[in-house]
Amino acid sequence: MADIQHFIDGKSAKGGVGFADVFNPASGKVASRVAMGGTAEVEAAVAAAQKAFPAWAATTPLRRARVMFRFKELIEKHADELAKLITNEHGKVHSDALGSLQRGLEVVEFATGIPHLLKGEYSENVGTDVDGYSLRQPIGVCAGITPFNFPAMVPLWMFPVAVTCGNTFVLKPSEKVPSCPLRLAELFLEAGGPPGVLNVVNGGKDAVDAILAHPGIGAISFVGSTPIAEHIYRTGTAAGKRVQALGGAKNHMVVMPDADLDQATDALMGAAYGSAGERCMAVSVAVAVGAAADPLIAKLAPRVRALKVGPGNDPEAEMGPLVTGAHRDKVKSYVDIGLQEGAELVVDGRGMKLQGYEDGFFLGASLFDKVTPNMRIYKEEIFGPVLCVVRAKSFDEALKLVNDHEYGNGTAVFTRDGDAARAFVNRVQVGMVGVNVPIPVPMAFYSFGGWKRSLFGDHHIHGMEGVRFYTRLKTVTSRWPTGIRAGAEFIMPTMK
Ligand code: NAD
Repeated sequence: MADIQHFIDGKSAKGGVGFADVFNPASGKVASRVAMGGTAEVEAAVAAAQKAFPAWAATTPLRRARVMFRFKELIEKHADELAKLITNEHGKVHSDALGSLQRGLEVVEFATGIPHLLKGEYSENVGTDVDGYSLRQPIGVCAGITPFNFPAMVPLWMFPVAVTCGNTFVLKPSEKVPSCPLRLAELFLEAGGPPGVLNVVNGGKDAVDAILAHPGIGAISFVGSTPIAEHIYRTGTAAGKRVQALGGAKNHMVVMPDADLDQATDALMGAAYGSAGERCMAVSVAVAVGAAADPLIAKLAPRVRALKVGPGNDPEAEMGPLVTGAHRDKVKSYVDIGLQEGAELVVDGRGMKLQGYEDGFFLGASLFDKVTPNMRIYKEEIFGPVLCVVRAKSFDEALKLVNDHEYGNGTAVFTRDGDAARAFVNRVQVGMVGVNVPIPVPMAFYSFGGWKRSLFGDHHIHGMEGVRFYTRLKTVTSRWPTGIRAGAEFIMPTMK
């Protein structure tokens, strides 16, 4: 069993405050140990990133983009291997792991266009013989702190944009899934990324505290749960850093009575139970409006009971295990809580056992009906295969539910009525909206981010928001000497 280390200045690096176990969620066994970095490892990574920064920032955007072209080819070549690393440590099924890798790869593709994306503005003659122009310049050393549920995609939301903008980067992946991010850093080096441009420090709170405290880090991107996101945002900005911190979610899918209920059922199955509900864009609440409720439950229940649960490397499996035993127990306890609160448990996934995988972190899919907004299972993020159906009398009542919830990451409306869909898009207080699309994760050339307590900071992630986050704007006003001296001016300059 090899220990998983850090990746600093283009090489594997040892050290830290101890080790943490990394599990294979399907077997429930410890698969490896990961070194837990602390202040010394973060300092070494930042020193390497600072050393690499001047030459990398001076490398032309076109050359930086060419590294991304090669990186894209290497990710494609190693896609199967990377997806297996994801499945081994996260548990999600192989096809889903490949899909998430593809969504990360699309950000690499976006970043290959960086020479175009970094173009500034230029105005001739903002005054007589005076020109004005703007530049976007890198910040310096940026850091990324990522969650367990997307070992490749979320790191790829961050560093391809950051480094092609000319920054150098320190990535602190989730200690539960360290292998895939580490492999991505090796591939980046193989693609021609100079040593020190992309560094990985493994670990947990100690490493994060060291990142927050380090004066050499100019910007932090965080994706994870809301309490930690808020802490990172407050601490990082108080230390003068630029911070974007994406948090948790409780995504509602509103099903109108005129919706195609077969399509809505398919959509709910994938969106609620895909990746065992461990997606920040998972639908965890279905709001059934009026007459949609009874037929929707009737269609959903047999499908939920028939869901194929199995290890992620089984091509027949539709849903894998949860990431850890502790998380499985937490999700299971929410099913108990829902029952105590009086919700109607239509499908109970708690008793599920899988032959040959008795120690794995499996939990069957659960479905609750008649959930109400005062219940904890409605208010809190469960992050597991538990779908809550809330019944609403009208469109307005459904919309109010979505808008009153503390989270505002994603939402969807299923309807055939263009007018209702348009009103929903216009009035909903959520960052990412789907119309007959259950998981509206924006494409790489748009930006990803929620509202309310799903995001702290001003910028969404990747797309042009990413380019803006990872660059500072500089505006130049320029005159070449003409030989005609105007003399000293003591009034606020105005252009003539
Ligand atoms: P988490 O908040 O526990 O961990 C995220 C990162 O923070 C990890 O790298 C972890 O090591 C670090 N961390 C954990 N505790 C810390 C502490 N006390 N101090 C400093 N750092 C700490 O989240 P998770 O369980 O890995 O991921 C699941 C959560 O992430 C869910 O809430 C999910 O909704 C959210 N998520 C959000 C998005 C989004 O785009 N909004 C995307 C994916 C996941």
